[in-house]
Amino acid sequence: MTEHVSALDLFTIGIGPSSSHTVGPMRAAAQFNDELKSHGLAPSEVVVTLYGSLGATGIGHGTTNAILAGLKGMQPETCDPAAVRAMVEAPGVKMVFEPRTRLAKHSNAMLFEAAGISRTYYSVGGGFVETDTLSLKPLRVLPHPYQSADELLAICEREKLTIAQVGLANELAMHTDRNVESQLESIWNAMKNCVEAGLKAEGVLPGYLKVPRRAAAIHRRLDINEGDQSLDALQAYAIAVNEENAAGNRVVTAPTNGAAGIIPAVGYYALKHKGISDAKLARDYLITAATIGGLYKRNASISGAEAGCQGEVGSACSMAAAALAQVLGATPRQVENAAEIAMEHNLGLTCDPVGGFVQLPCIERNAIAAGTAVAAVRLALNGSGMHKISLDVVIETMRQTGLDMSTKYKETSMGGLAVNVVEC
Ligand code: SF4
Repeated sequence: MTEHVSALDLFTIGIGPSSSHTVGPMRAAAQFNDELKSHGLAPSEVVVTLYGSLGATGIGHGTTNAILAGLKGMQPETCDPAAVRAMVEAPGVKMVFEPRTRLAKHSNAMLFEAAGISRTYYSVGGGFVETDTLSLKPLRVLPHPYQSADELLAICEREKLTIAQVGLANELAMHTDRNVESQLESIWNAMKNCVEAGLKAEGVLPGYLKVPRRAAAIHRRLDINEGDQSLDALQAYAIAVNEENAAGNRVVTAPTNGAAGIIPAVGYYALKHKGISDAKLARDYLITAATIGGLYKRNASISGAEAGCQGEVGSACSMAAAALAQVLGATPRQVENAAEIAMEHNLGLTCDPVGGFVQLPCIERNAIAAGTAVAAVRLALNGSGMHKISLDVVIETMRQTGLDMSTKYKETSMGGLAVNVVEC
């Protein structure tokens, strides 16, 4: 049985620009550093080989800096983003790029070698890291176990619970040693802070593409124009987060960094334009989003390197739609319907970041997906929750579409916009 995915693991406070290329590699390097230390060794004369998608777009995604920071013992949650950005090289650490070699287990693979010790790590999306060795984590006993959206809905109906209530009960059972509610509050505050920081920041994003920041200017114009501008504001919120991510600043992985703008933007929209309280957003909104995100991680993938952008932006869009529907008072079936609609219209979305930077099309794509999430909720709330295509079917379709998708469109920057936009 696949292990249940916790909200506190799915939403982690880290740094940009990529969960699989920055957060995951930093965690892997920090783990390797710990292993060397446990043998009384220092991280000198280390050779790090980056395979597949990490080898193809690792530099634009900040992978090398993140690995150097991890080898110094830094962690994504607590590091100073500016210090990580400043890490260009370290004496004794050699990076080797093997973009055309894909290891069997996952496209995002890293081999660390030092002092006769070698370890292979896989950055499997959303900042999660796996190794070739078995996970020794005990399976948790949950009050409401389920494998699929249909099983989740059956629990809601049998127990007369909302999806948020089922998710929270499971979360509390998984973390008897942690204060779940206060950690959710910290995650929501970090999301809000990121939106607000991005709405104030001006200038040009890092990298030779010289992409100008737009969120602050869009947001300023909202004060001048008249009428309902909530959807323009929503786009500014999403762009703000993704610009912070592209700048390598503090962001929450939700469920990845490339797609990190959608869930905070839709939540901030609910706060500012729908009168939903911070407390409700921290608990019901985030738990519902994580419950749906867990289904994607468990039954398909949230990794752009495995499933293309449908796995990242599509999953985030679906999670945000479900979460917004929940806090607006939808029934469990309407919540599931909103999640399904949101993914259905992201199926087939490819990943083709220009120059390997998480900027074009990623930043704007988050703004569009935030709008899709809100539109999906409106459609779901206008229905009874009964619909033809179930969330389970659309998740399985996403998985199969990801398997059929050419490697060119999975975080390698070898196809699509990445090869058609002239770099100058
Ligand atoms: S195109 Fe999508 S999956 Fe690819 S890096 Fe950008 S946001 Fe991530």
